[in-house]
Amino acid sequence: MKVLVINCGSSSLKYQLIDSETEQVLAKGLCERIGIDGCLTHKPTGKDKVEMNADMPNHTAAVSLVLQQLTDAKNGVIASLDEIGAVGHRIVHGGEKFAASTVLTEEVCKEIEKCNDLAPLHNPANLIGINACKELMPNVPMVGVFDTAFHQTMPDVSYLYGIPYEYYEKYAVRRYGFHGTSHSFVSKRVAEIMGKKPEDLKTIVCHLGNGASICAVQNGKSVDTSMGFTPLEGLVMGTRSGDLDPAVLEYVAKKENLNISEVLQVLNKKSGVQGLSQVSSDFRDLHAEADKGNKKAEVAVEVFVHRVVKYIGAYAAVMNGVDVIAFTAGIGENDALIREMVLNHMGYLGVKFDAEKNKFAGEERIVSTDDSKVVAMVVPTNEELAIARETVALV
Ligand code: ADP
Repeated sequence: MKVLVINCGSSSLKYQLIDSETEQVLAKGLCERIGIDGCLTHKPTGKDKVEMNADMPNHTAAVSLVLQQLTDAKNGVIASLDEIGAVGHRIVHGGEKFAASTVLTEEVCKEIEKCNDLAPLHNPANLIGINACKELMPNVPMVGVFDTAFHQTMPDVSYLYGIPYEYYEKYAVRRYGFHGTSHSFVSKRVAEIMGKKPEDLKTIVCHLGNGASICAVQNGKSVDTSMGFTPLEGLVMGTRSGDLDPAVLEYVAKKENLNISEVLQVLNKKSGVQGLSQVSSDFRDLHAEADKGNKKAEVAVEVFVHRVVKYIGAYAAVMNGVDVIAFTAGIGENDALIREMVLNHMGYLGVKFDAEKNKFAGEERIVSTDDSKVVAMVVPTNEELAIARETVALV
């Protein structure tokens, strides 16, 4: 079956068409500036990349253009839309309602809408994408795959904040966690690589990208994760602050004459290693600057590593041990120096780091020695493939 995977944002839409039998990507692309003017980048596998400006007044127009390109005589990869057997949608927030992927019926979409409050920037955009696809492909089954679902197995001790209980009861204020599709995909792959059942492993997955989170996976289930009510909690990220004393909000608001929303904007968009280094959110730039003697860039990298180290230690404690530490996403897969800096702190857990094996980028591989008690490895994530698999399983 051919599955169209859609990740719809407020003004952008990423897509991949995946052949579920071979798990090959047939085409992928991105619509940007939807509702403003419109720009499409379309890459059919084995053919030239297409970049074009095209009117996209709304998401339906964007999806329509994507479908046209997929079936185009020159740039297309399928003869007709009938070849698309299902559509898998990435949905950011499923609240407490969705602990697994689900077929998108009218009722389900209403339930997702109820979660809009929890993710006001993302869920409404996801729903717009779903509706646009339903309009253009009314008879094709659609599945929703939630970023939060994998973490619904967290026990209350992990998900409750130390605030009045009625805020949880009345407003659903709790930790949800994100990147669930990636943590699930990587932890399953870890079990395959180790030749063990997920039930027999304690794994810490470090998803280190521009957005970054760590997850403790025990018995194949998420038992704790670093992102919380929103993706702002936890690690120091590209532009997000991560954990912070909430009293900083009021203090900075007064000093800078900002309101709460404006301070949150700073914490989401202008903080993290970008804010610390005042140079870049990209680790390639940070390393280059640090090499040139830029102290702020050097400290930003060290702060990032320190927080990762703290969370790994915390999750080894939560699970009373750890068998595997896995790295994934842009930094985790490609940045050998960050892996080395993190793993050099892990001797106390029984990790023997292998600097030679670590010198590579972007591929699946073990980076600890053969006699290491805890296995450290790199497992490239593939959220689109995970969504396609979930979609096929449900339709
Ligand atoms: P997201 O999906 O959250 O946007 P990614 O997982 O694509 O993030 O990761 C993007 C980040 O990965 C970049 O900002 C950069 O810091 C880092 N990155 C990507 N490639 C490399 C590389 N070769 N070396 C070091 N860091 C890299």
